[in-house]
Amino acid sequence: MLDPFGRQITYLRVSVTDRCDFRCTYCMAEDMTFLPKADLLTLEELERLCSAFVAKGVRKLRLTGGEPLVRRNMMSLVNSLGRHLRSGALDELTLTTNGSQLSRFAGDLRAAGVRRVNVSLDTLDPAKFRDITRWGKIETVLEGIDAAMAAGLKVKINSVALRGINEDEIETLMIWAHGKGMDFTLIETMPMGEVDADRTDQYLPLSLVRTRLAQNFTLEDSDYRTGGPARYVRVAETGGRLGFITPLTHNFCESCNRVRLTCTGTLYMCLGQDDAADLRKPLRANADDALLHSAIDEAISRKPKGHDFVIDRRRHAPAVARHMSVTGG
Ligand code: SAM
Ligand code: SF4
Repeated sequence: MLDPFGRQITYLRVSVTDRCDFRCTYCMAEDMTFLPKADLLTLEELERLCSAFVAKGVRKLRLTGGEPLVRRNMMSLVNSLGRHLRSGALDELTLTTNGSQLSRFAGDLRAAGVRRVNVSLDTLDPAKFRDITRWGKIETVLEGIDAAMAAGLKVKINSVALRGINEDEIETLMIWAHGKGMDFTLIETMPMGEVDADRTDQYLPLSLVRTRLAQNFTLEDSDYRTGGPARYVRVAETGGRLGFITPLTHNFCESCNRVRLTCTGTLYMCLGQDDAADLRKPLRANADDALLHSAIDEAISRKPKGHDFVIDRRRHAPAVARHMSVTGG
């Protein structure tokens, strides 16, 4: 699949549910309205959609959400998608999770063919963790991370850099992650969906974080890539990898290789734009995939050049109205 700007689309991210057992302040309002249950695709339909993308050239699939592991019977989807790994059609099947259910599912994920997971964790302080996630318990997440590593999964920690919240803990988080042999990636907050907090207050540019880290650590340039937007450095003192995802301070759209599917079968060709294609209709119209394949081609032909994320005090509305949990972060 080639888009109008010559970018090859090989990566599909799937939000299998927009629901979550946490309510992170930068991601969701406390009182969220979720997509109506009646609009959800079944796990079998999601499997068929993902498989159509694999047939069209997708090599990497990431299941995300909301919290992917709170969707009932989720392992049946992971298990059936695992067949594409065994056939060689897919290079990687992976997940982004808040870690709350990993103790339960780590072994099953590994058995299905998953080799790496990203776990989102913004602080190691239990009280701060409770403040950020509103509903989460840090012990469960830490146990989940240990269970994942014990099951043989490679874990990467992702933290959203939040001004005045975890700003003073970034070094601690990095040293902790690297000490456990995990890569560590920082993310800038993106203006998606209304949340209760003020994003201009939360936004911490990673250019600043990087300058500060460079005062205490040797950050060596690295051309390591995982097929995502993160740019990595090697930290000489810890021997670990540190990634930066900087949609605001450094735009990476020119190398974008991905599209995003929601749990209702809507395809977003860009995280930061509203244009979308309905794939549920062609999926349900016919048991044969021909209609679906042409709807996918038509959608890819509309992939925009890039996003319009800006966070500043003059612009109060988010760049896109939907929350990250709908399109999947
Ligand atoms: N629940 C899972 C989790 O937390 O990892 C998967 C979905 S979550 C939406 C995926 C990632 O998006 C998380 O790392 C989260 O911190 C990040 N995220 C959520 N809202 C964001 C926002 N407005 N800006 C930047 N990152 C955001
Ligand atoms: Fe849930 Fe992940 Fe959003 Fe936090 S960031 S509310 S864990 S979907």
